[in-house]
Amino acid sequence: MRKLTFKHALTPDGIVADCVFGIDEAGLIASVGHGGPPYDGDLALPGMPNAHSHAFQRALAGRGERRAGDDSFWSWRDAMYSLAARVTPEQLYAIAAQAYVEMLAAGFTSVAEFHYLHHLPDGSATTAMADAVIAAARDTGIRLRLLPVYYHAGGFGKPAGPGQRRFVHASVDAYLAFVDSLDHPHKGFAPHSLRAVPLEHLREILRESQTRSHNPLHIHISEQEAEVQQCMESHGARPIELLADSLDLNAQWTLVHATHADEGERTRILASGACVALCPLTEAYLGDGLFAAAAHHAAGGAWAIGSDSNGRIDAVEELRWLEYGQRLRDRRRARLADENGIGLPLWRAAAAGGTQATGFPVGRLEAGCHADLVVLSADASPWRGLPPERWLDAWVTGGSRHDIDAVFVGGDRVVQAGRHRDGERISVDFAGALQELAR
Ligand SMILES: [Zn+2]
Repeated sequence: MRKLTFKHALTPDGIVADCVFGIDEAGLIASVGHGGPPYDGDLALPGMPNAHSHAFQRALAGRGERRAGDDSFWSWRDAMYSLAARVTPEQLYAIAAQAYVEMLAAGFTSVAEFHYLHHLPDGSATTAMADAVIAAARDTGIRLRLLPVYYHAGGFGKPAGPGQRRFVHASVDAYLAFVDSLDHPHKGFAPHSLRAVPLEHLREILRESQTRSHNPLHIHISEQEAEVQQCMESHGARPIELLADSLDLNAQWTLVHATHADEGERTRILASGACVALCPLTEAYLGDGLFAAAAHHAAGGAWAIGSDSNGRIDAVEELRWLEYGQRLRDRRRARLADENGIGLPLWRAAAAGGTQATGFPVGRLEAGCHADLVVLSADASPWRGLPPERWLDAWVTGGSRHDIDAVFVGGDRVVQAGRHRDGERISVDFAGALQELAR
């Protein structure tokens, strides 16, 4: 049995001193006890699950920022489609590996990958694209929940267009056969959105999901006001209302964004136990709007964070944007805070929601959970001189991923002194892939 000892650790009982984790062969925490130096670090936190990622979009960073008319989500989507049309499996491997290295160094120890770049550029069927994502996760050490996406229509009642050729499956049967052909033990189902998946197909996927062990179900929903409007016109109901009315919405579901959920829809989310995956950096970048996170959190709703478009990957920065968005809207401070401050409740709630969204036993430092840890050092400038109980407040308000000392996945150290063990080689390959794509 391996052991890791920390001067302090955030456990379900709070921050405890002199904490020893016994770790078994499978990388699970087998025991939690007390013990002194030498320490493996100053403060261990549960690793953060990343509830929503499109790894290939990491290659879009820095592109498409020049103003051109009425820029919106939809003009960004055109830029994303032009990249998506060209990426090869080898390039996808290099891009995803870079995204996953950055996630690990940023405190994300597992990821729900919402993968829709399925086919080759000419539209022919392959598993090579999904295999590239699986290999990138394996080689970098991140824990992967692969969510192959079902994409069928180009909008409510509209056929898919040529820009969506690489994403589309002609039928639910073709999609299920594809999911079954992927060689990865941790899968889930991801109907892309109500605009891309007819309701009848959604019901079919749900029925099939009950017969398989792929538990999580993720869907993009209510991200854009135009999408809410189109849903009302097509179905006479708002998106989350329609989902809750049409099928069994429950804790198996992760609703990605849910930005424009109204009060009635938020009540339905709470009653269902579904998790909301919030992606504050991406939602801000795309000008989506603000989910009523403070009200949802206060009512005990489950929520997680996702790095989504991966232009900037940083768990603590996602949490800062989440909190600050609510502050700016409400013109008040401490929107998701409690008597312990802001950092601890945010980290804990996001880790718990991310655990639900990824379907892995993670997010808590206790026996039976994977030994996925983020370790902070007393030397980091944001909290130097403060007691460990205040470090996360200082981090959320004044720090970044660069303050992380070490990261462990399944008890294995993948990041040391802030650097991923293969980060340099992977960044060279990533730069090569970007140069090819720029030609
Ligand atoms: Zn997304």
